[in-house]
Amino acid sequence: MSKPKCWQDVPIGTIAWGASALDVETGLWRSMRPVLDLNKCISCLKCWVQCPDMSVQTDEEGRVSGINMFFCKGCGVCAEVCPVDAITMHHESDFTSEKREHGENPGMVADHVK
Ligand code: SF4
Ligand code: SF4
Repeated sequence: MSKPKCWQDVPIGTIAWGASALDVETGLWRSMRPVLDLNKCISCLKCWVQCPDMSVQTDEEGRVSGINMFFCKGCGVCAEVCPVDAITMHHESDFTSEKREHGENPGMVADHVK
């Protein structure tokens, strides 16, 4: 296979319109779900820093307050870096009985904080 001469030769993914991340709820791709236990959380912000999707949310005081399930991909980085095991990963199939919004939409942040 010959090496591409420039980036235009490489088949790449494209986005349909600017700022589409706000409209495309990519959390639908997730097969694993992080569950945050605020009783254990010491708000060290390691998960906030490491989340590749900026899905960890903070309150007005800068403390971790939840996870945005509309965009979280379930990669598990947050659970891996948490020093106090405040985040655990669960199969999406464990949540099949919860109220869904927009079809398969996983719901609002507060639904995933215990
Ligand atoms: S890494 Fe763990 S302890 Fe630190 S802010 Fe996130 S959930 Fe809380
Ligand atoms: S599972 Fe991954 S995408 Fe979701 S909040 Fe944790 S680090 Fe972010």
